[in-house]
Amino acid sequence: MLFANVNGQKHEATPKTFGICPLCNSTVFSKCGEINVWHWAHQKDEYCDNWYEPETAWHKSWKFVFGKDNCEIIIKREGEKHIADVLTNEGVVIELQNSPMPNHTAVEREKFYREQMIWIINGSHFRNNFTYEASTLSYGEQWYWRNEVVQTEYGIVDKETGELVTQPEKEYNFSWRWPRKSWEYAKRKIYIDFGDEYLFMVTAGMGTNQGKGKLISKKSFLSEHQGNLEFLETLINRN
Ligand SMILES: [Zn+2]
Repeated sequence: MLFANVNGQKHEATPKTFGICPLCNSTVFSKCGEINVWHWAHQKDEYCDNWYEPETAWHKSWKFVFGKDNCEIIIKREGEKHIADVLTNEGVVIELQNSPMPNHTAVEREKFYREQMIWIINGSHFRNNFTYEASTLSYGEQWYWRNEVVQTEYGIVDKETGELVTQPEKEYNFSWRWPRKSWEYAKRKIYIDFGDEYLFMVTAGMGTNQGKGKLISKKSFLSEHQGNLEFLETLINRN
């Protein structure tokens, strides 16, 4: 975890300090080396949350975009408690997943966090096995052919009425060699982060060899979920 309680305050790890784990109340120790992201660890590196995965720079960037008050939030439900990676002001849980996980875990986590939850997966590890291209005749293109529109500085305008119109999002087909099958049963929205300015939102076939998706700019994703746009660059072109 990136934050622990130090003197009653939510604190980042600093060298040679200790704090209290907000989930299990045991003492945690700062780990501030040169290779890993500075974080807090339990004794003997035991984890009190079985959904925990080691912190990476990727986790840190996403958490910091949503800010200290909205990341690593404890959620208690029916005698169970977990640390949600992000909880937005509008009550959406965003779970960040960097590494492969056991088959049942995605479903368990979705069940616990309920409907108001989305996933962001670090796709940089399988970027070379995942390709996508626009559907040969995507909905977006058909729409352009049917509608008399013109691109202006204000956006796309209907030639006849002069009204601003919204362009439908282009659909992409993906093919995924050696897909991470544990995602096959996930039901919540999944966004794959390949490290560029877009997120690939999977609309069909997650965890399988072929499916569909759309590209959503990280900027619009942050706008929708109240992330800090000043930190947008920290999510782009970093690997
Ligand atoms: Zn703990």
